[in-house]
Amino acid sequence: MSQTRSLIDKQGKRTDGRTVEQLREVKMAVGVVKNADGSVFIEFGKNKIIVAVYGPREVHPKHMAQSDRCVLRCRYHMSPFSTDTRKNPAPSRREVEISKVMREALEPALMLEDYPRAAIDVYVEVLQADGGSRCAGISAASVALADAGINMRDLVAACAAGKVDDKIVLDINDTEDKEGGADMPVAYMPHLDEVTLLQLDGILTRDQFNQCFDTAVEGCKMVYEIQKQALMQKYFGNETEVKEEVQ
Ligand code: ADP
Repeated sequence: MSQTRSLIDKQGKRTDGRTVEQLREVKMAVGVVKNADGSVFIEFGKNKIIVAVYGPREVHPKHMAQSDRCVLRCRYHMSPFSTDTRKNPAPSRREVEISKVMREALEPALMLEDYPRAAIDVYVEVLQADGGSRCAGISAASVALADAGINMRDLVAACAAGKVDDKIVLDINDTEDKEGGADMPVAYMPHLDEVTLLQLDGILTRDQFNQCFDTAVEGCKMVYEIQKQALMQKYFGNETEVKEEVQ
């Protein structure tokens, strides 16, 4: 990653008008897929992603079952129309890698030992990608797992930070990802204060690394608030209206 043009203007505004510490607008709707046990539609800036969770359910093929714990399977997939040029619908190496890191980012939050010999499947379908789709997918998947009623230790909130014009910025978009100096996606369990994913594409000094990491964790905490609100909206949203009607 080597930057060729300036991506932050004199007023400190980025290519999409945000300041360096501003998150894109995030919207989450819970329970959007009728046939899934848990589901979420997330809009993270221009990213649009549907996550559907199935399980715990019987494992097929049976030899994949584990006697002491549940098997978590994740599939991250970008639809052919999710990018500016048509994406081949067959799974790419990048999608295989992201599916793996998603599973590893989500697993520590789940009490998989509570469902021996079973499997939980998480399908992450990217309808529109705009940089940071793995973080948006992880954050949505964690809420979808909670919606499916899976026993959990914490939610997993994810957000990237990066380096643009030699400045550390929160939540980099597609242009900043492609033209900027560094991209660091982080997934974090806010209640347990534990990191479950840390990737870095680009070069940072030790100070920049620390600043970038702290910025990403702050972003995760912002995402966590939105995750909680989305769950509250589904499970308690109407309760306030019901109470008002009764009074
Ligand atoms: P993330 O979406 O988690 O940031 P990457 O850094 O690998 O993952 O990708 C950054 C962005 O590049 C994606 O969000 C997407 O907009 C774009 N992109 C990824 N793969 C393709 C592809 N095959 N064709 C076109 N654009 C792509």
